[in-house]
Amino acid sequence: MFQKILIANRGEIALRVLRACREMGIRTVAAHSEADIEAKYVKLADESVCIGPAASAQSYLNVPALISAAEVTDAGAIHPGYGFLSENADFAERVEQSGFVFIGPRAETIRLMGDKVSAKRAMQAADVPCVPGSEGALPEDPKEIIQIARQVGYPVIIKASGGGGGRGMRVVHTEAALLGAVSTTRSEALAAFGNATIYLEKFLENPRHVEIQVLADEHGNAVHLFERDCSMQRRHQKVVEEAPAPGIDRKLIERIGERCAEACRKIGYRGAGTFEFLYENGQFYFIEMNTRVQVEHPVTEMITGIDIVQAQIRIAAGEKLWFKQSDVLRRGHAIECRINAEDPFRFTPSPGRITNWHTPGGPGVRVDSHAYSGYVVPPYYDSMIGKLICYGDSREQALRRMIIALTETAIDGIKTNLALHREIMLDGQFNAGGASIHYLEQMLAALNTARAE
Ligand code: ADP
Repeated sequence: MFQKILIANRGEIALRVLRACREMGIRTVAAHSEADIEAKYVKLADESVCIGPAASAQSYLNVPALISAAEVTDAGAIHPGYGFLSENADFAERVEQSGFVFIGPRAETIRLMGDKVSAKRAMQAADVPCVPGSEGALPEDPKEIIQIARQVGYPVIIKASGGGGGRGMRVVHTEAALLGAVSTTRSEALAAFGNATIYLEKFLENPRHVEIQVLADEHGNAVHLFERDCSMQRRHQKVVEEAPAPGIDRKLIERIGERCAEACRKIGYRGAGTFEFLYENGQFYFIEMNTRVQVEHPVTEMITGIDIVQAQIRIAAGEKLWFKQSDVLRRGHAIECRINAEDPFRFTPSPGRITNWHTPGGPGVRVDSHAYSGYVVPPYYDSMIGKLICYGDSREQALRRMIIALTETAIDGIKTNLALHREIMLDGQFNAGGASIHYLEQMLAALNTARAE
């Protein structure tokens, strides 16, 4: 096992990794920017190294600075968290070439999954169900493109192979709009991602976002840890997540989960990963794989009792998976609310000093956050300042506990989206379970109309 791990991230996930390391008796190095120098989690780490100024490009994305920090502190491995360099194949390669262990998949796997056309091809080859669409990249010939779209059937979505973060996509409803959309998406893709490769898929009109968590070791073993429902999204950003996904046939989940585990064995996947699917009319359609730990991993931890971050570390250290698929049990229900420093209904960021930070407690309540009274939320990074996770024997109990926990939570000095979470938890449609990926935006539109009146 590693003696020391360098955490190449910030905020709640840096603290989450730190806690996992502590429990395992591993020393930690917090690599932080100048803006995070005063953060308590930085002081909690055994050592800390300032890797540059506030701007991410010069700190959390600064590869040479991170490698030097690992060298001077003699760390054995680097945990990339999520975001920043976590899905950067070149970084993973540099880490390994410099003699450290990258806590994540091999660089080639990150590269394969980072390119959506090659990822989809690999998943098709592994029998993971995909959204019907073009066989790989779209050709140049307009006639062929029209033919492909006719076969798939409108509406279709044109997507950039190198796209990410909900960018580089365009929905097309009619043949008349097709070629224009193809050429715009192509040039945007080249400008934004340096890769003009685009592909086409059937546009699913009212799907849910359901994803499968996997763990795989480097000895060819892989298991799935069931699913999460992350349909409550605004602008493709998840706001609330839960596990299990309400109302989906358990046999189907087990079948898809096993396909994902098998795909991991086929591509030689290593570490924790997530297969993201759209789910519509009882069918799963693969859209992409995330080759890192996800923000919403705690809901899976709560229902399975498996510590996903510790699992990442043990796998990176070369351990064989210490349990079989049949040992992975799930119990109860968990819901996560992402707490953001922003206006709850206008979504403008609200950085600044938190004058009062009071977190909830009681059975089944978990708070993952690096914030505290007096903490200053810097304006330079993502607005998420923590996650509130509630567990219950049933979805109803988890929901009730979440409502109570949200009521107990008090955060002053900055604006947060707690009020939005209260609205969501009390919403009839959300309570019924199974809302689509468009539901939150519809709910927000209705709320804004009501507020304007
Ligand atoms: P990114 O890497 O940018 O997040 P994804 O491929 O994961 O891109 O897609 C992001 C979101 O776009 C999905 O969560 C879904 O809301 C929408 N989307 C993508 N593909 C389709 C599709 N074929 N049909 C309907 N919606 C889609």
